[in-house]
Amino acid sequence: MSKLKSYHFSAGDSSKGAIGICARITATSKKEAVALLKQALPEEERIRPYNDTGVDYINVYINESAITAKDIDEWEVVESQFICECGEQVTEDELINGDECPNCGRAVE
Ligand SMILES: [Zn+2]
Repeated sequence: MSKLKSYHFSAGDSSKGAIGICARITATSKKEAVALLKQALPEEERIRPYNDTGVDYINVYINESAITAKDIDEWEVVESQFICECGEQVTEDELINGDECPNCGRAVE
């Protein structure tokens, strides 16, 4: 059973470049967080303009293959949240005998 972590991504550059994105992903590792973000990101998204005078549409394109663990700028352990190898997400209060998964009985590492 692994502790869940909260990863913050910051990619692109909205100060010097045209587009920046940020995202917060809950996962057990940086590798898993990158994979989850890539699965979630649309390739193309039409955004709602502040002011639509003269605007037919505005589309944003995202190159998910350029996103890596280097885009994680901050992360923290989510206290009292675990994920078991069996896939069960467990809070500390739900552990049996203080350290066992209520679904499969594996112990917290
Ligand atoms: Zn389990």
